Amino acid sequence: MMSSRSRLYILISIGSLLVTSGCRPSEPISTATEPPQEMRVAAPDANWVRLIPPIDCTLGEDCFTLLYVDRDPSPNEIDFGCGRQTYDGHKGTDFAIPDEAVMEQGVNVLAAADGTVLRLRDGEIDRRRTTAEEIAEVEESGKECGNGMVVDHGNGWETQYCHLKQGSVAVVEGQSVRQGDVLGEVGLSGKTTFPHVHITVRYQGEVVDPFVGATSALGCNVTRRPLWQEPLDYEPTGILRSGFAAEQITIDRLWDGAYRDSALSRDIPLIFFWVHGYGILEGDVEHFLLLDPRGNVITDYEQTAEASQKNWANGVGKRNTSERPILPGTWRGEYKLIRNGEVVAELEREIEVR
Ligand SMILES: [Zn+2]
Repeated sequence: MMSSRSRLYILISIGSLLVTSGCRPSEPISTATEPPQEMRVAAPDANWVRLIPPIDCTLGEDCFTLLYVDRDPSPNEIDFGCGRQTYDGHKGTDFAIPDEAVMEQGVNVLAAADGTVLRLRDGEIDRRRTTAEEIAEVEESGKECGNGMVVDHGNGWETQYCHLKQGSVAVVEGQSVRQGDVLGEVGLSGKTTFPHVHITVRYQGEVVDPFVGATSALGCNVTRRPLWQEPLDYEPTGILRSGFAAEQITIDRLWDGAYRDSALSRDIPLIFFWVHGYGILEGDVEHFLLLDPRGNVITDYEQTAEASQKNWANGVGKRNTSERPILPGTWRGEYKLIRNGEVVAELEREIEVR
């Protein structure tokens, strides 16, 4: 009696595809570094600018701190938390939204502090740059920032905002803005591979990591004087979005905003429970459960990540066959991301099959 399981259940990992990971495609990742023993935070400097996140959303829920400033001057890369959520030469912090469907609805970019708009640009198209040619094209144009602006906060402090949606810039040069004022909307202009706003902070012309503050210290695990007005967590791993699809997913389509169905037809060729996350590390274990409307476990699957990925997608599914059809009712997916035996992310999703 041959096993038919392999035909009934499909398990797909697309985390190893070239995954977008910043203002440009991911590059080889430097070797892992020891996590910080302690995040030393000193009192803020009274003369420094105090910032709010430049995006109108709830971080960790509907938007995410995806990439940080690269604190390694060598061709290697490291974020302030000694993680790998950055890339070589990244000068700012990337606040991402889940996909282009959310971008179309409109997510405001906010002034991080009071100031004056020094200069701005609008009119660049919104497009994910996924090929080397597309990246080269935008680099040659010198418009990597896309639509955006520079705001002067006085005393040597500036913030720059990048990748805003075409036509969304809501300020003019010379305009005074207050902290929290709308500057425009999150978009995909310039050198970017996913919808986000990038903010670069400068003090006297030098890039400052807002999670660390102005310092001559390089690398990670240094004493920090963050510029954030309210403490902002270091969250190098998380889930952008999760759901069900009637087909095998791709990262591109996830960023497009596909697979948002709240119900599926019982005639679909397969039901696929997927997760799109960021900051998975080599050795992390993903545990998927897929349950049918009767509560039967259809798939119980664990996979160990073979490589670290700044963003990845994975999932499990079941084909629709005449012997074992996809039953109508509420299907359920459960997911856990486990690191060194501890759950670092988990979620549950349900969908109606009619
Ligand atoms: Zn960036």
